Amino acid sequence: MKAWLNFSPEIVNKAVISNLMKNFDVSFNIMNANITPKGGKMLIEISGEEAQEGINYLENQGVHLTPVKRVVKKDNDKCVDCGACLSLCPVEAITIDEEWKVELDDQKCIGCGFCTSSCPTKAIKLAD
Ligand code: SF4
Ligand code: SF4
Repeated sequence: MKAWLNFSPEIVNKAVISNLMKNFDVSFNIMNANITPKGGKMLIEISGEEAQEGINYLENQGVHLTPVKRVVKKDNDKCVDCGACLSLCPVEAITIDEEWKVELDDQKCIGCGFCTSSCPTKAIKLAD
């Protein structure tokens, strides 16, 4: 599961993430983070046998969790590999291969939609 965690100023200094890792059987990947003493947010991917228990723990500690549901889909017939979408992606879900083909990794995509408006051929669209 991919989700944004929102930390209020009251809980930003608590050791919730290290306690999560210590006490639950989860794999935890931080994909993006912007946290200051005033609070902030973190994009995570969590999996493992106790993922749901870990999520419940975070919520009980006061971390507000927003699951990421949307990703983008690319229509390869319409894509002209111009690369306009590439630099806008905050999580490096769009890459270019050695043959200059633009590739999309929907496992990394967080559905922010930054790339969709840049596409001149409307090849890239948000999907559920
Ligand atoms: S929707 Fe956002 S995260 Fe997904 S590929 Fe486009 S820019 Fe990257
Ligand atoms: S902006 Fe559109 S046409 Fe250009 S590489 Fe991205 S998906 Fe392909």
